Amino acid sequence: MNNTEFYERLGVDKNASQDEIKKAYRKLSKKYHPDINKDPGAEDKYKEIQEAYETLSDEEKRASYDQYGAAGANAGFGGQGGFSGFDGFQSAGGFGGFEDIFSSFFGGGEAQVNPNAPRQGDDLQYRINLTFEEAIFGVEKEIKYHREELCHTCAGSGAKPGTHAETCHKCHGRGQTQVVRDTPLGRMSTSAVCDVCHGTGKEIKSPCPTCHGTGHEKLAHTVKVKVPAGVESGQQMRLQGQGDAGTNGGPYGDLYVRFQVSASDKFERDGSEIYYKMPLNFVQAALGDEVEVPTVHGNVKLKIPAGTQTGTNFRLRGKGAPKLRGSGQGDQHVVVNIVTPEKLNEAQREALRDFAKASGQNVSEQKKGFFDKFK
Ligand code: ZN
Ligand code: ZN
Repeated sequence: MNNTEFYERLGVDKNASQDEIKKAYRKLSKKYHPDINKDPGAEDKYKEIQEAYETLSDEEKRASYDQYGAAGANAGFGGQGGFSGFDGFQSAGGFGGFEDIFSSFFGGGEAQVNPNAPRQGDDLQYRINLTFEEAIFGVEKEIKYHREELCHTCAGSGAKPGTHAETCHKCHGRGQTQVVRDTPLGRMSTSAVCDVCHGTGKEIKSPCPTCHGTGHEKLAHTVKVKVPAGVESGQQMRLQGQGDAGTNGGPYGDLYVRFQVSASDKFERDGSEIYYKMPLNFVQAALGDEVEVPTVHGNVKLKIPAGTQTGTNFRLRGKGAPKLRGSGQGDQHVVVNIVTPEKLNEAQREALRDFAKASGQNVSEQKKGFFDKFK
């Protein structure tokens, strides 16, 4: 089974990134384009390149090609790229901007869209890790990621400075051409994406040296994110205009920042309510006490009434997390857990025997584990 051929056709490594695949494809498709290259065999070569790109540019098809070869890549494919994890950032739409042109070219559909209409750039995703406290109190974070920006050399036109993109000579800027065929059923007219401009409606005769005609370049971008107080894991925030650059003067896409909040070793949180499990010994519980309870807002004194039972819930008003919607703060719930001492010295044992006697109880002590007797 040959599942390296598509890579060889594009002249890329098997581990090539999507960027490398795209670049190789653009270079080769220009070189072998039948309108440009009149060598015999150029057209076949061009078709081979297209076929290889169509598979390798789609992560799902590529994975199945890697595993099963060409038959696998074309069989039963129905899904779409979408997200694959949240590390760093992911392009939300898979294709976008310049790539849309190619995907519609290959897909054959979506050809009715005006190719010169401004289009918004892709949305991006970024995951921010927060500590338990940062999520409660809010924090300002500076995040850095790569995004497509308008090329600084050509300002997004894709043409070499001093030159202009021209209206496509073949489709006159429509991005598609009509093909009329005589068939047994009569004359059929179908529209196809223009093979000269690939649907852009423009021809760039001298591409910009920086972006090679895409009008975009991938650059590191830094954004300050004000994380509001009270966020929780899985919630996200939209930062308008912080995604990829648009095409034809369209706006930038958005950045979706998703929060991942670490657990605390002391507290549990449910929305704006915080839970703390407080260990008390049975003497404190029986006689009552005043104890210090940790809260995210600092320690708080709490009076434990005599006769407190395990599972009793004391509420510390306003000591929880802020309510994200609406106003005010949640509460902290202090849940009592009465701990039985595991080891006693003789004096303690004696005191407990006296306690039992005073309660009119007769305790038959078991020094070792109860089940040891049966061994
Ligand atoms: Zn450029
Ligand atoms: Zn055209």
